[in-house]
Amino acid sequence: MSAGEVLVVGGGSAAHRFAERLHHHGHSGGVTLLGAEPAAPYHRVLLTSVLDGTLPPAALELPALPDGVRMRAGTTAVRIDRARRLVHADDGSVHRYDTLVLATGARPVLPRIPGLPRPGTSDAVTALRTLADAERVLRASPDARRTVVLGGGLLGVEAAAALARAGHEVALVHRGPHPLDRHLDADAGKLLAGRLAGLGVDVHCGREAAAYCAGKLTLDDGAVLAADTLLLCTGAVPETALARRAGLAVGTGVLVDGRLSTDDPRIHAIGDCAEHPGAAAGHLEPAWEQAESLARQLTGAGPRGAGYRGTRCVTRLRVPGIDLVRLGGRPAGAAGPGGGSGSGAGAGAGAGSAEGSAEGSAEGSAEVVTVADPARGRYARLTLHGQRVTDAVLLGLPRAIAALTRLHEHGLPVPAGRLEFLLGIEPAPPGADELPGDAVVCRCNNVTKHAITEACRAGAADVEQVAAATRATTGCGGCTSTVRKLCGMARTGGSTS
Ligand SMILES: Cc1cc2nc3c(=O)[nH]c(=O)nc-3n(C[C@H](O)[C@H](O)[C@H](O)COP(=O)(O)OP(=O)(O)OC[C@H]3O[C@@H](n4cnc5c(N)ncnc54)[C@H](O)[C@@H]3O)c2cc1C
Repeated sequence: MSAGEVLVVGGGSAAHRFAERLHHHGHSGGVTLLGAEPAAPYHRVLLTSVLDGTLPPAALELPALPDGVRMRAGTTAVRIDRARRLVHADDGSVHRYDTLVLATGARPVLPRIPGLPRPGTSDAVTALRTLADAERVLRASPDARRTVVLGGGLLGVEAAAALARAGHEVALVHRGPHPLDRHLDADAGKLLAGRLAGLGVDVHCGREAAAYCAGKLTLDDGAVLAADTLLLCTGAVPETALARRAGLAVGTGVLVDGRLSTDDPRIHAIGDCAEHPGAAAGHLEPAWEQAESLARQLTGAGPRGAGYRGTRCVTRLRVPGIDLVRLGGRPAGAAGPGGGSGSGAGAGAGAGSAEGSAEGSAEGSAEVVTVADPARGRYARLTLHGQRVTDAVLLGLPRAIAALTRLHEHGLPVPAGRLEFLLGIEPAPPGADELPGDAVVCRCNNVTKHAITEACRAGAADVEQVAAATRATTGCGGCTSTVRKLCGMARTGGSTS
């Protein structure tokens, strides 16, 4: 069956990537994107770079959509008429489809705190999901420099660090025993809290927000924090309202199979709104792999029968100067970097934002390797099955992070000298020089080794210049060390084939 007229609901990363890949694989029918946000598709993961002032909002815009793809920004789909294969939008427009793709993303979970104004009614209190949210925080500055970030998950920690870099007086309030407690055990959590304190973030763990009144947040122990701005980083859940109303099967997200099909074969779901047993929602990589997989299936570009099986989960903290990664862990139905355990009455209740627990994996036949060097801020905990990483947390070990991430992504065994490997004494396995030219180095922006090499040949001399030329490293940042290595190889005339 040809995909025919393709309608995509959503204008985020998954929708953008899907439209680009569909075009790439030769789809000949029409493609229309309906996006609720007023802006053209942009790089959501870089919102914290807008907060700390390192990027202007305009720099987040994703590359232009391929010719022929129609984008209707500021248009919210409100109803799917499955019998007639029509989607109705809030502006009265009606859109026909042969194939419908839901890429509606996720929405923040807002806590119930006495005195909290309704979302969107005050610049002083906001979630952090959209460019409009980030701009609200900027609008409040520079007068409002005392900021409380509620929720110490990935998003909360990244936002707190970004605002501290921007000169805010920042308090981070988290109900768990330490920041990122869904990813880190107590030792690593303590180290991270110390690093955040070193950045100037005032960390309050094991605390709930009890009440808010203009400019002040009262905690459950009676402490009162000055909060010119209150940033709510209290979790996110898949946006499934449209799918539910259409009678599609929904769990935490819209349920999909290996074809990324819902229980209606003409309707698919990808990205944060989708629930697939092999993918942790709330991360960019599964969203992009699903976009690619679906584009291939709809155009017949993939091998017959090859569907989407899942994505190996890599979770990175995007805080300059703190190298922290979690590999593997249990795929879960929500949240991810956009989420975090809430901190506030009712926050996250039923949010389904389980990200796996550092202690939670079945360790029956597992080998567990732990290295702790608190004095130098280094920590690693690896769980291996059959020599391969099934779960790992690494902090303060940038070389091991780069090497282990590669092994994990390719399902390769960890060298027998575990300690030497973690400390970078043993040479790392396959590096940048051994990657084939068409290997995708920056998965966030789909930039190949060849494109980076070409940028270097054309004059880009360092990571920043390669980033400007190709966008490599401007997503999660996980490829920075590989890009740096490729730059170095280009400078010294090493093989970069
Ligand atoms: C600040 C921040 C930092 C992050 N950092 C990282 C990171 O470092 N690494 C990582 O892997 N992930 C990160 N994430 C998560 C990542 O951004 C998401 O996984 C990714 O954006 C998912 O893409 P998506 O297209 O599925 O959803 P989204 O990007 O949320 O896009 C969905 C779009 O659909 C629109 N929409 C919803 N309903 C409708 C409707 N009915 N009609 C029309 N449009 C609709 C929404 O308005 C939205 O624009 C971060 C998220 C945030 C907020």
